[in-house]
Amino acid sequence: MKLMIPGPVTTRAEVRAALAHDFAPWDRDFYPLYASVRERLLPLAGVSGETHASLPLQGSGHFAIEAAIRTFVPRGGKLLVPMTGSYANRLTRLARECGRAVVSLPVGEGERADPRAVAAALAADPAIGHLAFVYSETSSGVVHDAAALAAAAGAAGRRVIIDAVSAFGALPLDLSAMPEVDAVLFTANKCLESVPGLAFAIAPKERLIARAGQAESWCLDLADVHSHAERVGAGSFRFTPPAQVLNALSVALALLEAEGGPPGRLARYRANLRAFYDGVLAIGLTPCLPRAVQGPIVMNVLAPDDPRWDLQAFVDLLKMRGFLISNFYDTPLPSFRVGLIGALGPEDYRAAVAAMDEALAGLGIRKRKAA
Ligand SMILES: *Cc1c(COP(=O)(O)O)cnc(C)c1O
Repeated sequence: MKLMIPGPVTTRAEVRAALAHDFAPWDRDFYPLYASVRERLLPLAGVSGETHASLPLQGSGHFAIEAAIRTFVPRGGKLLVPMTGSYANRLTRLARECGRAVVSLPVGEGERADPRAVAAALAADPAIGHLAFVYSETSSGVVHDAAALAAAAGAAGRRVIIDAVSAFGALPLDLSAMPEVDAVLFTANKCLESVPGLAFAIAPKERLIARAGQAESWCLDLADVHSHAERVGAGSFRFTPPAQVLNALSVALALLEAEGGPPGRLARYRANLRAFYDGVLAIGLTPCLPRAVQGPIVMNVLAPDDPRWDLQAFVDLLKMRGFLISNFYDTPLPSFRVGLIGALGPEDYRAAVAAMDEALAGLGIRKRKAA
């Protein structure tokens, strides 16, 4: 079965095979494995262990986002969040539930967040200490200009938190040129193409030291993850590590390195997007976004304007043909959603389009255009 969803993604057999080993967390064989995974993530963000640390947490992406907010934003502190879609809404909820205030910056449907609007909002409210934004908005499929947004906050003397969960490992990211960034968050199971179970932050060591003990949580304190590694050793996890998941990620990182790193991976995802976008148009369907703003991570297609359209039935027909897409949509207008990431290539997307053509015929749909 090919998972065509924006995470968890289709993984390679080598990655899944790495789960078939047992480990004792304190064993000397496990230490170097864990330490090397932490080390090998840093260059993917354009930095090294000299200035930055990679900080793993058990759990999904939300855990790392909450941990970054707790660690870097003081209780009662204010964040500016560009409202790009569902994941910006989730970021807002995570911040509010841990007692941080959010100032929402409206962003037009299908538009990129505007760095000038960020600058204006920060100038208008000196109490805002952080800009927090979603790099690749997984609901809309729009990729925002992370470097320009961060620079706007940096120029205003503010700090930055980036939800890069659906971006990290493919989209460009150079933290060495972004000194205002406190944390970039991601998971193992999106563009890194490994299995779920681990979330990460990459953060400047200096800032982790400065913020020690302020998270009001032991589990979700990134500064504590860092100080533990400094005290006990880079290969020591604070609690029981998801060792099999780390081993799978180690194999997935080797595959990423062999693909030419993030630029190589991005080239494949762009080829996936081209194949899918062209294919969708060729069978008479309508993409939600124009090509100019459509990112290479996830793509929404408007539902056909036909009374026989039934998303779950469409999903079931595709599943019978070997492709699994989301059975819900996350756009204002009815649509279906297809992930462009994971261990898949353009030939898979051409085959998926052919399966969609058959599935639409199977549903008896006559009008494929959107309303
Ligand atoms: C997947 C994702 C998350 C995290 O989701 P989890 O289910 O907690 O792993 C956060 N932000 C974005 C943009 C995502 O795509």
